[in-house]
Parts: sequence; structure tokens; C-alpha cells
Amino acid sequence: MKWTKTLVQTLREDPGDAEIDSHKLLVRAGLVRKVAGGLYAYLPLGMRTLRKIQQIVREEMDRAGALEVVTPVLQPSELWRTTGRWDTMGPNMFKVKDRGEHDFALGPTAEEVFTDLAKGVVSSYRQLPLTIYQIQWKFRDETRPRFGLMRSKEFLMKDAYSFDVDAEGADRSYWNMYHAYERIFSRCGLKAVPVQADGGDMGDSLTHEFHVLADAGEDGIAWCEGCGYAANLEKAERRADGAAACAPQCAAFSEVATPGAKTIEQVAAFMNLPPEAFVKSLVYVADGRPVMVCVPGDRDVNDVKLKRFLGAKTLALADFDTVLAATGANAGSVGPVKPADASLRIVADASLKGATGRIVGANKDGFHLRDVDLARDTFLKDGDFADLIVVKEGDTCPHCGKPIVIKRGIEVGQVFKLGTKYSGAFKANYKNDRLEEKTMIMGCYGVGVSRTLQAIIEQSHDANGIVWPAAVAPYQVVIELLDPADASVAKVADDLEAALEAAGVDVIVDDRAERPGVKFKDADLIGFPVRVVAGAKGLANGGVEVKRRSEDKSMTRVVAPEAAVETVMSLL
Ligand code: ATP
Ligand code: MG
Repeated sequence: MKWTKTLVQTLREDPGDAEIDSHKLLVRAGLVRKVAGGLYAYLPLGMRTLRKIQQIVREEMDRAGALEVVTPVLQPSELWRTTGRWDTMGPNMFKVKDRGEHDFALGPTAEEVFTDLAKGVVSSYRQLPLTIYQIQWKFRDETRPRFGLMRSKEFLMKDAYSFDVDAEGADRSYWNMYHAYERIFSRCGLKAVPVQADGGDMGDSLTHEFHVLADAGEDGIAWCEGCGYAANLEKAERRADGAAACAPQCAAFSEVATPGAKTIEQVAAFMNLPPEAFVKSLVYVADGRPVMVCVPGDRDVNDVKLKRFLGAKTLALADFDTVLAATGANAGSVGPVKPADASLRIVADASLKGATGRIVGANKDGFHLRDVDLARDTFLKDGDFADLIVVKEGDTCPHCGKPIVIKRGIEVGQVFKLGTKYSGAFKANYKNDRLEEKTMIMGCYGVGVSRTLQAIIEQSHDANGIVWPAAVAPYQVVIELLDPADASVAKVADDLEAALEAAGVDVIVDDRAERPGVKFKDADLIGFPVRVVAGAKGLANGGVEVKRRSEDKSMTRVVAPEAAVETVMSLL
């Protein structure tokens, strides 16, 4: 392909809305153009890479025995009503009507459509196990679309769904997809690590997210260098070895006035004590009932773990009125002592078990209690303690006891055991060998194809631009034709292009009448893995120059034009 015959539009300036490197480079290298917030057009270079990633995904799905199908983006509301998700998906789901006023969703995912499809096509155990997948555009009205393709309103997803006769089969399907994901990301030149994740609505269901570790990642990952434990912070656990007493066993607690101090930091400053000497007490509403949650003063409540411990369907921080009615005080002065509402449930982080000498809110505005022994002086009983805080750097690994470090991750894929949540709702049954009706056991598996494209850039770039892994580069080789008007040099470039294409290599020839500096800058920005320079001067001095994008200029090899194919192939 000649540069002048395709559409390459590089930009000198970073786009104004880009906060992270991969977003800047994606636009500057001319891979995509923004249409509106969270909506992008793929230009020819971006399209080539997107297609290559899709092809890797497709090959690995096929290799794992999954069957490709495609289902409509426009999904009838009836399917979503069968599981109740029409009402519970919330504002992230785009809802539209047809001219007959029938409701549809622009598919944000497709569990309902695939379960209904499987119900229609599977009748016997002989047809199982079955894994079907599609590569289809998905739509989500994200609260904050940002970071380019990372969090967009419309994105390309590979979604697969497995159907099995029993739990062992479902387990095999799960790990089959898990291993396919390892191959997909590694073939994309991406280092993606599987981390344990929270099951969301599915409770304790087994699920892993695949994360590309990068500072730009939106998720926190707890990571143990000791044993390899890795978990999304939403899910991550820690070993709580009981509380360190902040003061020796005390005779009795006493009330202290803490006027105007609302936050732990303010009370701590007022009393001249460290935040960890305090108990932070927050009131939530879980399934309509208030609950008080107590954690060490220097820690944060993990809402996901709390929700799971309470077994609640809904959970949110309580409003001012609810806090006052439940405890008798306003936020800032509440604590695990006698509340206004005697039926208020109080729970606490496991690390507070046995804690003494703490300061807690008095459930009386402007007052705290000091020298509190949590077992003696509060309403907390044995069963009220659980791991409820967000893990932080230095916490103890729940498995090996080594310190945890916190990393940032970009979620590029997720594998998920669904059990019978969807198949039960749809009565997606099969007949077993005794002709009894049984419910299929499901799993679902997503890869963010467009997010993966950008994650590759985030993981593989330098100050000059993208450094594409060869498998997904828009073109694997750029030939820099420095003297396009010189017929003999142009012939060298043409011959090399033809020979490389015959060898199955994607090549672009930069035939623009631009200065070499401009051409090299663009090649580095777009990030073609191998660069060949063909110029009159070089040819007179012995040949063409070959180097990898990732290599320093000093690594440039000068080879005769006839030997260039072999050199390029070895570098790829
Ligand atoms: P996130 O937590 O980042 O919002 P998710 O867990 O809701 O993502 P899934 O339902 O697991 O997403 O979707 C499968 C994959 O689709 C994700 O692993 C991610 O790679 C990709 N994805 C999800 N939302 C978006 C989005 N708004 N833009 C681009 N890719 C997305
Ligand atoms: Mg996910």
C-alpha cells in the first residue's frame, strides 16, 4: 500500500479532551476520529488493527470450540423483562421505541438474547456442552465516557456464553475460556493478568477479570508478590489479625466534647491523636433499613464487601434525616453505642474485634466517647465482625501473609460463572438421557475488543509514539522512500514491497514528497514495528537501512536490497 493512496492523518497537537497517553496517541496517529463524546469513527489504520484483534479473538474462540453467531444490537424489551433487568439495569441502558411504541434496548450485553437463543435451539443433552459467541457492537450510556475507546458509549465486544449439563461441565467451559483469554491477550502482544473479581448480582460466583496493569487503569488491584494473589480492590481481602490495642485496658470510658469537629481528621486534630485511634462510623441504608458500619479511623468502607456481608440487594449511604433518626445524632458524632433506634443493626470491620482504648462517636451531637473497649462498651457482638474495608498497600495477604501492593489495571476481559440465573428465568432446559427436563448451567465471557486496542497502546508506547506488537500493527513494515522522484530508488521500494507482500507481510510505502524528518516522525508516531529506509544516498553507500521501531538508531542495519526481505522477516 502506498501512503499517498490511503488515508493517514497524523496530528501534531494532542486532542484537548485526552488525559492519558494512549488516548492522545490513538487520535494523533490517525487511528480514530471523535464523532461526539464517547463515540468514535475508525479511520483506515485503526480499522486494520481492530480487524487484526478481532481475527485473533475469532481464531482463539474457534480453537476453543466456540461457535460464532451474531445477534441483533436491537433487543426486544420482553427478553429483558424475563429476568427483570429491564428495570434493574438503570440509566446505563439505552432504551428506544419503534414506530409501534414497542420498547427495545440497544444491547449493552446479551445474556438474555443468548439464553433465549439456546432455549430455542437446544433440546437434548446430546447437544451440550455448547459455547456460542459473537463480536458485536455494544452500547452503554456511561456516566463518564472518557479516555477514548477505554470507556465509550459504543464499543466492540466479543461476548460468549456457555451452556452445560452440570456443574463439572460448566467448570470445564469456564477454564476453557479462561485459557483462551490468556492466548488471546498474549497473541495481541499484551501482558494481561487474571485477577479475582466480585460476582456482582451473582454473589460468590467464580469470576476473573483480565487486567492490563497501567497507571492509567481505572481499577485498583491488590497484588501479592509473595504468592501471586491478585484481586480487584472491590473484592480483595486481607488478613485481620485482630486489633492492636491503642491504650492499655482502661477502667471506664468518658465523654469528651468535640464541638464542630465533623470528620475523623477534624476530631483527630482536635484531640491531638492519630486517626487510627478512632472508630469511623457510617450509616448506610441496606434494602430500606439503616445499618451502622464501623471501621478503623484511617480506613475506608468497601461497599461491595459490605453489601455481600449484609446479603443486601441495594445499599447506599443514608441521608441526614435517616442518620439522625437511627442514631440520635448527625453524621460526625455517631458511634456503635446506644442508638436512638434500638433496632439499628451495627457491624464492624474484623480488625476492630477486641479493640480497646478507642474514641467513638457518642450518638450525641458534638460529643465523642474515649477509652472505649469495643467488646465491653458497644453493641457489637461476635457475629457482627467481618472483613469490610478497602485493602490498602502494606495490608497482609490473606493467603501467604506477605504485604500487599496496590496496582492500577485496565479491565480488558472477564470470565464469569452464571449458574442458572438466566437459564432458570428463561426455563432454558434440555432433556437428559432419562428424558427428564433439566436446566442448563451457564457461563459468560467478554472481551472488550476496542478497549483492548487502546490498552495495547497504553502498554506499548514511548515519547515518540506507539510501538505496535507485530501481530496487531496496522502495517508491520514501513518503507521510507526518501527520493520518490528517483525512478531507480522507487523501483527498489516497489520490489521490496512486492517481495514482502508475497511473504505475507503488511507493508506501507511512504511515497510522500516530504522531508525525511517529517516522514520518520510520522512512522515513529504510528509505530510500525519495522522501518526500512530506501534513499539514493544510502543505496549508493551499500543498501537500505533496517531497524525495529523499538530499537535505537545505533542498531540500524545496512543491507543490500535483495537481502532486505530476510532481514525484515527475522526482525518481525
Ligand atoms: P467496567 O467495569 O470497565 O465498566 P464492565 O465490567 O462493566 O466494565 P463487562 O460487562 O464485563 O464490562 O464487559 C466486558 C468487557 O467489555 C470489559 O471487560 C471491557 O473490556 C469492555 N467494556 C465494558 N464497558 C466498556 C466501555 N464503556 N467502553 C469500552 N469497553 C468496555
Ligand atoms: Mg467486567
